[in-house]
Amino acid sequence: MTSPESINAVWNARDLAALWHPCTQMHDHAAGIIPLLPIQSAQGAWLTDMQGQRYLDAVSSWWTCLFGHRDPRLVAALKTQLDELDHVLLAGFGHAPAIELAEELLRVAPSGLSKVFYADNGSAAVEVALKMAFHYYRNRGDGERTKFVALGNGYHGETLGALAVTDVPLYRRTYAPLLLEPLFAPSPDAYLAEPGEDAEACALRAAEGLRELLERQGRSVCALILEPLVQCAGGMRMYHPRYLTEVRRLCDAHGVLLIADEIATGFGRSGTLFACEHAGIAPDLMLLSKGLTGGMLPLSAVLATSAIHDAFYAEHAAGKAFLHSHSYTGNPLACSVARAVLRIFASNPVLADNRATAARMATLAAPLADHPHVAQVRQTGMILAIEMVADARSRKPFDASERRGLRAYRHALSRGVLLRPLGDVLYWMPPYCIDEDELALLATVTREAIDVASAA
Ligand SMILES: *Cc1c(COP(=O)(O)O)cnc(C)c1O
Repeated sequence: MTSPESINAVWNARDLAALWHPCTQMHDHAAGIIPLLPIQSAQGAWLTDMQGQRYLDAVSSWWTCLFGHRDPRLVAALKTQLDELDHVLLAGFGHAPAIELAEELLRVAPSGLSKVFYADNGSAAVEVALKMAFHYYRNRGDGERTKFVALGNGYHGETLGALAVTDVPLYRRTYAPLLLEPLFAPSPDAYLAEPGEDAEACALRAAEGLRELLERQGRSVCALILEPLVQCAGGMRMYHPRYLTEVRRLCDAHGVLLIADEIATGFGRSGTLFACEHAGIAPDLMLLSKGLTGGMLPLSAVLATSAIHDAFYAEHAAGKAFLHSHSYTGNPLACSVARAVLRIFASNPVLADNRATAARMATLAAPLADHPHVAQVRQTGMILAIEMVADARSRKPFDASERRGLRAYRHALSRGVLLRPLGDVLYWMPPYCIDEDELALLATVTREAIDVASAA
């Protein structure tokens, strides 16, 4: 008989023998530096491991799980679809889930977006958008526009094209020799504001940098890609919506397509359904994934304007078609679950409820701003981030080799909270169902975690 305490250990041994985990130095697990947790089940905001220990999922399982785990409305949609159609190739065939989801996405998306191209994960959507933007100009007879503009500290995924337009050294550095080279424009990140500068002035300064870049090299650029309002994987760095207004204007002036990567910010995370709405702008291409299926199945979508679509539309002999394809493009099960996500938004006051939850998060986190090792507490809707540093006054960061964020992570896990930091940035990005008691627990444990992690 296996004792209950050793069930996790038994699974971990099998895990370490067979699995290679993402975003992980496997030695950390083998050496017991980072706990490895075999999860048996999940419900609402909670995960339960093989031994019955529960963990509050404060990061929505990498930002995917919008309404909580196994939301009954999504479970029902999946089960119903499973009884009818599992999968069919989307080349030469259509099906109701893909068609209806496309119609519904276009109904709620910013104006001007009029076609939906599916893929099956966020990075794939980025690849699609980059290829589409380049190919769009080529089809129009403009072969000079071969460059992309990306933002400093941006993140767009880790396949080679997506990684190329990512500016997080941790992920990019090693592969740099393999990557196409975009033009990087300064980040509008408000944390980088100069003394006396507010978030808006900081955004305008970054926009000025972009203007200079486009004036010099705009003729060679087909598209600019950015994460609207929050640079998530880059440390939940946030910026003023004015930057987006300026980017839209500059892109129009220089004939550059604007790609809004809403993979993390979409579906109510930022406070509006899509973060672009804060600035009242519409991109030429918009990317969705993560929350698109409420965290249940992999799916992504690229929404495009008719101008882009029409540049590919011609008789076969013209050779203008967009031939990109993935085996699971528009999978019916995933599309059905995504439709259920949109129904939840249509029939419930999700955004209003989130405003109340976000206000509670702000109140609970406010005292942390006075901590001697907290440089900033910042928030955009349902994303709240805490910048942990060696010295709050000078904002001097901790030496990365000290792995302070990891200490916070371990402490929080020992208290039943999954609080997985980005370096030394702790953040809350909870499922929208998180209740007052759960938020209070999260705040208490976050405080403890910062105390433990920042101790000498
Ligand atoms: C997560 C993420 C991606 C990549 O999505 P994957 O499904 O992990 O490949 C791209 N862009 C942004 C903004 C993301 O947060």
